[in-house]
Amino acid sequence: MSITGPLPASPLSASPLPPVPNAADGEPDRRTAGLTIGVDVGGTKVAAGVVDGAGTVLAALRRPTPGHSSVEVANTIADVVAELSAAYDVWAVGIGAAGWIDADRSRVIFAPNLAWRNEPLRDEVRDRVGLPVVVENDANATAWAEYRFGAGRGRRDLVCLTVGTGIGSGIVVGGELFRGAFGIGAETGHMRMVPGGHLCGCGNHGCWEQYASGRALVRLARQLAADDPAAATVMLAASGGDIDGLTGPDVTEAARKGDPAALRCLTEVGHWLGEGMASLAAVLDPDRYVIGGGVSDAGELLLGPARDRFAETMPGHGHRPMAEVVIAELGNQAGLVGAADLARI
Ligand SMILES: [Zn+2]
Repeated sequence: MSITGPLPASPLSASPLPPVPNAADGEPDRRTAGLTIGVDVGGTKVAAGVVDGAGTVLAALRRPTPGHSSVEVANTIADVVAELSAAYDVWAVGIGAAGWIDADRSRVIFAPNLAWRNEPLRDEVRDRVGLPVVVENDANATAWAEYRFGAGRGRRDLVCLTVGTGIGSGIVVGGELFRGAFGIGAETGHMRMVPGGHLCGCGNHGCWEQYASGRALVRLARQLAADDPAAATVMLAASGGDIDGLTGPDVTEAARKGDPAALRCLTEVGHWLGEGMASLAAVLDPDRYVIGGGVSDAGELLLGPARDRFAETMPGHGHRPMAEVVIAELGNQAGLVGAADLARI
């Protein structure tokens, strides 16, 4: 397979990034030429795929994330790139990494769940694979994919929230990915919602993701089951009666059956989600929130309460346009699709 256009300028020097239209606006040639590889590096798995300019994944594979060695992680990324590029003619690699990335899209400044500390990941992978490489925050890559090809198509200003164990977030403003001056903006999960609240992995107390996440859902459900086991019978049946074994999917499954206790837990998490979205609206005024991640499997059982609280707590509510709140469309491939697309700019 050949490259279908002139090779774009090296992405390595592409900072600051120009505004890029999404698919609904029509595509400049540069955006669609040839194939790139996206690699999504999380705490447990490395997922990679060959992606075309329309966001279609032509081939994908995954590996476990190797232990605590940054060298082994770089080797694993190089291995998956080599395997995919043996079958496809690719010209660049985008890495979405679970960590803080510098403004040059080259170094992982810090990664809470991986061994990276000021790691020059871009150069390490580029030296191994011989292709241009960019590194992005994984939640930013996910937001970019939803903006370009998913639930954010046709919008210019959106917030994408990946509600999993914590909150991953990415922000698109005026068709540009918002990174902040140092590359580590858009970490909305660490907005302080409750002074003196639950301890967060970032070292602070009371961050949003401690209240609007899978971790919060499980904490609520276990607390409820411990306080009143009779009220939690349906949820506990899903976990075999083990309070400490209760998981987020157990709560969602029970809520889908109409279990009042599970619905209460999801409603509370949804309310916290909506509360934070209202605060973000005060700053960003987006026209759409895209909600993904494992907790979003609950669909309207989560989004309904989120929308309600969002509407109630929005500054000037009742006197301004309301943003839409929708479920993400691209699932767990969004990270690699977005990383592959960001390698093009
Ligand atoms: Zn935090």
